[in-house]
Amino acid sequence: MADQDSYTKTKDIIPIKRVRNMGIIAHIDAGKTTTTERFLFSTTKTYKISQIDEGTTQMDWKDQEKERGITIQSAATTCFWPPVDKVKDRDKVYRINIIDTPGHVDFTAEVERSLRVLDGGVVVFDGEEGVQSQSETVWRQADRYHVPRICFVNKMDKIGADFQMTVGMIEDRLGAKTAVMALPIGAEKDFQGAILLLERKALVWEGDETGAAYHQVDIPEEMKAKVEKQRQVLIEKICESGGDDNLLEKYLEEKELGIEELKQGLRRAVINNKLVPVYCGSSLKNKGVQPLLDAVVDFLPSPLDIPPVAGYNPKRDKQEKRLSKKSEPLAALAFKVQTDPHVGRLVYIRLYSGTLKSGSYVYNISKRKKQRVGRLLLMHANKREEVTTAVAGEIVAVVGLKEASTGDTLTTEEKPIILESINFPEPVISLAIEPKTRADQEKLGYALKRLAEEDPTFQVKVNRETGQTIISGMGELHLEILVERMKREFKVEANTGRPQVAYKETVLQEAEGEGKYIRQSGGRGQYGHCLLRVTPQERGQGYEFVNEIKGAAIPREFIPAVEKGVKEAMANGVLAGYPLVDMTVAVFDGSYHEVDSSEIAFKIAGSAALQEAVKNAKPILLEPIMKLEVTTPDDYLGEVIGDLSSKRAKILGTKTRGTVKVIKALAPLAEMSRYATRLRTLTTGRASFYMEPSHYEPVPNEITNRIINKNKDEENY
Ligand code: GDP
Repeated sequence: MADQDSYTKTKDIIPIKRVRNMGIIAHIDAGKTTTTERFLFSTTKTYKISQIDEGTTQMDWKDQEKERGITIQSAATTCFWPPVDKVKDRDKVYRINIIDTPGHVDFTAEVERSLRVLDGGVVVFDGEEGVQSQSETVWRQADRYHVPRICFVNKMDKIGADFQMTVGMIEDRLGAKTAVMALPIGAEKDFQGAILLLERKALVWEGDETGAAYHQVDIPEEMKAKVEKQRQVLIEKICESGGDDNLLEKYLEEKELGIEELKQGLRRAVINNKLVPVYCGSSLKNKGVQPLLDAVVDFLPSPLDIPPVAGYNPKRDKQEKRLSKKSEPLAALAFKVQTDPHVGRLVYIRLYSGTLKSGSYVYNISKRKKQRVGRLLLMHANKREEVTTAVAGEIVAVVGLKEASTGDTLTTEEKPIILESINFPEPVISLAIEPKTRADQEKLGYALKRLAEEDPTFQVKVNRETGQTIISGMGELHLEILVERMKREFKVEANTGRPQVAYKETVLQEAEGEGKYIRQSGGRGQYGHCLLRVTPQERGQGYEFVNEIKGAAIPREFIPAVEKGVKEAMANGVLAGYPLVDMTVAVFDGSYHEVDSSEIAFKIAGSAALQEAVKNAKPILLEPIMKLEVTTPDDYLGEVIGDLSSKRAKILGTKTRGTVKVIKALAPLAEMSRYATRLRTLTTGRASFYMEPSHYEPVPNEITNRIINKNKDEENY
């Protein structure tokens, strides 16, 4: 019998062209988890459907995600569609790898990394809210990675749900060219199903219960004209999407077009990012999910449909491409490291080319190390399944890859390639953490190291002066959740300080500084001497070191030591000890001593010269500015704006959306601590907000002084 398990064990009989690596992307609360859950149920992977509200879904498998009802980590889950036990013809079965993407913006890193490795996405919208701010952010990220998308307008059963409005917003706010594939039958509590336009099929789901059966009915009389009109619009869009001249010709000659050829045309348009099919349904009420799964299979790309991966071959010193073929040399990207309580360290990888076998050796070119691949696992939401081989296009988890971290490339020594790593934003908030007991001390270090490995936007540093451990991340919630995980998963008890904003320092003008380290009293002395110039750079430009020494003022072998000293001094700025950024540092003069000069002397001189130059160059503090969107009923508009203004926020604009007002603003993170509670109090819980890091800006003078004095007080204390 073709049961699911026996099928997965012979997974190689599903060729790569029938694999879909996809993610479900959504604003928090739009229904991503519920939809994923329904996907898994429909594909018969889960036998008991669970409600997110009860905190028992399969994807949200970490305890606190359950408690909070949000998905934090991308777990990759494998399932099959159509369900293996329902198809006679095995050649019709597809393997879908669902890469879970978090909806909360404090976890942008998770979204970035998932987008990097998925081939297509289903974007879920709340049919009442339409396009929300986070969906907009993630949409733009998906644009950057050219991810083909399908939209699902969810919650059609909810009061106020409006399919046309949402489609309009997808066009206007996201700039997408939509292909409306289905129209809702009924609305709100009477929502029953959908009419598939291409097929002219009206589908009605009988009940709300799990896996409710659906059947085809006649298209309601009053909808017939609308269906024909919209179907025509859809066909026109497909034919004009530019992928297929034959189709366009036939269309212009008004010849009959078959459903299959239209679907093929649409598939090309979706893969080329020309059109976005839109479906509707209600995941909670189990309506409309199966057609969406059909769409994933029909329209989202297989690994063979995406361009070959590009990377740098260090042996040949040039850019190369690798085809998605199992016979090509290995190229794989590690996109996630997770510590699993049962299996230990898991490295999730996407294979772009070649074949990977358990027990074999790979070359981790990012770490310049040959490493042994232990076991290969396919992850299902609630269980793991061992496989012996993975091929180009697949996503698997590897056990036993000791040192691989996120963004590393796995390849071969003979035919190496380095794939572009994954970019992660810098943390904006930090807090001090200390173990409760001596016994916790060691465990704390271990736990933080593991967590930082999993999440590149989570950083751990030890302040050299105070000995305090400082953890930094993307927001209060981000750090809160990591601290909770530490307690739960690693059983470490720790106290945490108040969250602190991650300020930075920079300079406003060009200036020079001199550093000398000379000790010459008997025996071999020390001699290091250099002159530096610092020049301000634009925000976000980072740091650059330039050697302008002509002649032999400083011998070349000591220049790296000067730079090392500069870098060390930049980690602790002169104003309040925050890292210095956005400036060029040039070494242009100095002197040396035949016998006494040493690397250490030049390093100390480099640090001293930098500090002096920065002091002369009008140093300032920079603070992270957040992009903020508050949605509030009209009644509270005044209060919310007033409150924001008192927080140094810049109001960018206010818009009406349905019955609510949406305020867009930029606000310093320093003022936004516990804003969730503040907003709740202000509006009796009727407003909601969304916030993400935007950029860094100079801190106003009087506040700079306050921060400097506060830091001094803390040091003295
Ligand atoms: P996520 O944050 O995007 O993962 O969203 P969830 O799947 O956790 O859903 C958020 C809330 O919306 C939960 O209370 C769900 O029960 C509810 N929800 C999800 N889908 C639907 C739907 O189709 N209709 C209605 N009315 N509520 C839904």
